[in-house]
Amino acid sequence: MVQTQVQLLCPECSKEWQSKPGELPASQRLFHCPNCYNSRRLNEFLRTERDLQTLQQLQ
Ligand SMILES: [Zn+2]
Repeated sequence: MVQTQVQLLCPECSKEWQSKPGELPASQRLFHCPNCYNSRRLNEFLRTERDLQTLQQLQ
């Protein structure tokens, strides 16, 4: 079984990383970039629509 992760990209510093949906807040909650500490809603960090769907399905 493939471990599902979502792809994240900071719109401010362009840091790219992956995270498990269970370790992230809901998509409308504020999230802080671990690199530049920019605060945005989590859905602005998700790279694709599919990542948003994955997140919402697994939370
Ligand atoms: Zn950043």
